[in-house]
Amino acid sequence: MVKFEYFEPNSLEEACALLKEHGEDARLIAGGTALIIMMRQRLLNPRVVISLADIPDFDFIRFDAKDGLRIGAGARHRDIELAPVVQEHYPLLYETFRKVAQPRIRNMGTIGGNLVQGDPLTDPGASLIALDAKITLRNAGGHRVIPVENFFVDYYQTDLQPGEILTEIHVPPSLPGLAWAHIKFLPRSQEDFATVGVALTMRLNGDRCQDIRLAFNSVAPIIMRAKRAEEILRRQKVDDDRVGKMAEVASTEVDPMDDNRGSAEYKRELVRVLVRRAVKQALERSATGKQGAKQASAPA
Ligand SMILES: Cc1cc2nc3c(=O)[nH]c(=O)nc-3n(C[C@H](O)[C@H](O)[C@H](O)COP(=O)(O)OP(=O)(O)OC[C@H]3O[C@@H](n4cnc5c(N)ncnc54)[C@H](O)[C@@H]3O)c2cc1C
Repeated sequence: MVKFEYFEPNSLEEACALLKEHGEDARLIAGGTALIIMMRQRLLNPRVVISLADIPDFDFIRFDAKDGLRIGAGARHRDIELAPVVQEHYPLLYETFRKVAQPRIRNMGTIGGNLVQGDPLTDPGASLIALDAKITLRNAGGHRVIPVENFFVDYYQTDLQPGEILTEIHVPPSLPGLAWAHIKFLPRSQEDFATVGVALTMRLNGDRCQDIRLAFNSVAPIIMRAKRAEEILRRQKVDDDRVGKMAEVASTEVDPMDDNRGSAEYKRELVRVLVRRAVKQALERSATGKQGAKQASAPA
C-alpha cells in the first residue's frame, strides 16, 4: 500500500477545510470498497486520505410524504435496502439496492462512494435517474444541487469539482401507482456487475403513458437516460408497436462496448429485449396493484 496521511474529521466543515487545504493530493474515503482497490493497483496515489466515517449523521435515511426521501451520502447499500421507508414507498430502490454486489460489499459500500466513483457498471445511478433524484454537492464555500442524470460526465468521470463532497441524495415524493421495473441482467453470477441494467418508471392514465423515465447502466461510458426512446411512449397509448419502437430507439441510443460480459452487439440486442420486458413488468405491477417491495422481486 502506498504511504499516506490519514485524517478523520468530525464535521463536514472540517472535511471541506481539509480538502481545500490539501487540494489534488487528497482523496475522501467512505466505505473504501472502490478507493482501496484503486490505491492497491496504484491507479491512485493520494498523499492524504480523509475519512467520512466520523461525520455525524452522514448516513441518515429520512422520509416525509411531502418532501420525499433524503439519504445521507454515507448510507450503506444495505441500510438503504433494509430501510422500511424505502421498502414501503420506493420499491424500485429496494429492488435495486438488494441486487448490488453481495451482502459483504453492501454492508461497506456507500451510496455516495458509488455515485462519485462514476463507474458505468454500477446499479443505483440508473434507478435514481428513473426517479428524478437530485444530489447535493458541498464545498468550503457553499453547496449546489444537481439532477443525478447530469452528474455522470464520462467513463469514471463525474461533475464533482475539486473540494466538493457529495452530502445528500433527494428522491421526490413517491407517486401512488407509479409503474416501475428494474432489470439487472446477470448471466454469470448473482453478485456480478450487470451485463445490462434497466430502470424504468411510468405514470399511466388508463392505457396512456403520461410520463416516462428510462435509464441504463452497463451500456455506455456513463450511466445514462434514454430520452429519445422515452419520447416514443410519452403521452401515447402503450401498445406493442410503440413499445417495440421504443426498444428499437433505445438500442440505438446506447453506446456499449465489448467486454468479458458480451459484445457491444449482444448488449444492444439485450437492450431491445429488456426494454420490452421492463414495460411488461411495469404494466403487470400496475394492473395488479402489486407495486410494493414485497412483490418487487420479479425475475430478470
Ligand atoms: C466485488 C465488488 C462487487 C461490486 N458489485 C457491484 C454491483 O453489483 N453493483 C454496484 O452498483 N456496485 C458494485 N460494486 C461497487 C460498489 O458499490 C462501490 O465500490 C461502492 O458503492 C463505493 O462506495 P464506497 O463507500 O466503498 O466508496 P469509496 O471506495 O470509499 O470511494 C469511492 C470514490 O468516491 C469518493 N467518495 C466517496 N464518498 C464520497 C462523498 N461523499 N463525496 C465525494 N467523494 C466521495 C472517494 O474519494 C473515491 O474516489 C462492487 C464493488 C466490489 C468491490
